Amino acid sequence: MDLSERVRQLSPSPTLAITAKAISMRVQGLDVISFGAGEPDFDTPAHIKKAAIQAIDNGFTKYTPVGGIDKLKDAIIEKFRRDNGLQYERSQVLVSCGGKHAIYNLAQALFDAGDEVIIPGPFWVSYPPIVQLAGATPVIVNTSEEEGFRISPERLKQAITPRTKALILNSPCNPTGAAYERSDLEALAEIVLKKGIYVISDDIYEKIVFDGFRFTTIASLDRDMEDRTIIVHGVSKTYSMTGWRIGFTAGSAELIAAMSSIQSQSTSNPTSIAQKAAIEALAGPQEPVMEMVQVFQERRDLIVGRLDAIEGVSCFKPRGAFYVFPNFSSWFGGTYQRKKVTDSMGLADYLLTTSHVALVPGVSFGAEGYERFSFATSAENIEKGLDRIEEALARLD
Ligand code: PLP
Repeated sequence: MDLSERVRQLSPSPTLAITAKAISMRVQGLDVISFGAGEPDFDTPAHIKKAAIQAIDNGFTKYTPVGGIDKLKDAIIEKFRRDNGLQYERSQVLVSCGGKHAIYNLAQALFDAGDEVIIPGPFWVSYPPIVQLAGATPVIVNTSEEEGFRISPERLKQAITPRTKALILNSPCNPTGAAYERSDLEALAEIVLKKGIYVISDDIYEKIVFDGFRFTTIASLDRDMEDRTIIVHGVSKTYSMTGWRIGFTAGSAELIAAMSSIQSQSTSNPTSIAQKAAIEALAGPQEPVMEMVQVFQERRDLIVGRLDAIEGVSCFKPRGAFYVFPNFSSWFGGTYQRKKVTDSMGLADYLLTTSHVALVPGVSFGAEGYERFSFATSAENIEKGLDRIEEALARLD
């Protein structure tokens, strides 16, 4: 078939092969332990589900305004006021079908061919393709474990050219769990303002932070940074609502109107019922979130402890989100059945094939040598999965 140039430019996700294999193994009845999930393993809190059921019972099942209903926009505005000290108008908020959709619309509204977009690596897998689909060029700036997986002002400065349009910041970060302190953001903001670029701040893991970490969004530093920043956010991770598909954007009214036009010619409004549920999530009781975060922190401690105990493995301690990103490169070069494990994909394949443990190879996030583990799975699975990994590594020649 004569497919579009655009889609031919898209490289298929290297994680797909592993995920597809894990699914087919499960279908065959094998006991696969998966550390692959990008979503909380908890149920959506009962009060949120109830709000959706009520919406259905009340017949709230028709089209809504493209960019979301006013009550949801107001709940989002209140969230930004309460949590981040930011004041937005309704015209500065757009509700989309998930955080990913928000970022997609944003890229379509903001980027042109020839624009460069700086993405610190390791990065969330969807940023580069979303930037490319808008015709722009992703510029990856790799950060190291020693730098706490954070882009420094010097590295940012070096990466900026006259074509740079924006920087994508994701704190806490998928896949590393790195998070930026206020002082880190202040140093970055100085460069951003001097060079006149935009910041896309993906704050979707804002609420999943550990050890009392105080989250700051770069938009809240001062009025100038607020003007330069577009925040993308959503209810997926915080409220265990990945399937409901509600994300949102806050930024300049001009950009929000442009994004809304794109949305109006593609998806139209996000699901009416899910919008009602999202109001309850943002404005209702927040205790379920705190309980979930407490469990994530206990699991983080467990998994980091187990990974650190493996010879040759170093594991950065996440400050937020629900992933760990340990370095396994010292195990590359080992062989099994006369096959050599040479990279993160090879190791993930070996562990899945021989031990039925699914991980996401670091190469998918632009960081060869690493493996991503999601700890959105039970402590029992973490123990069992790590036992299997230790045994599998011991079998390598
Ligand atoms: N941003 C980051 C960093 C993510 O990890 C994800 C999901 O994995 C998203 C955005 C998108 O979330 P959703 O589209 O499910 O709301």
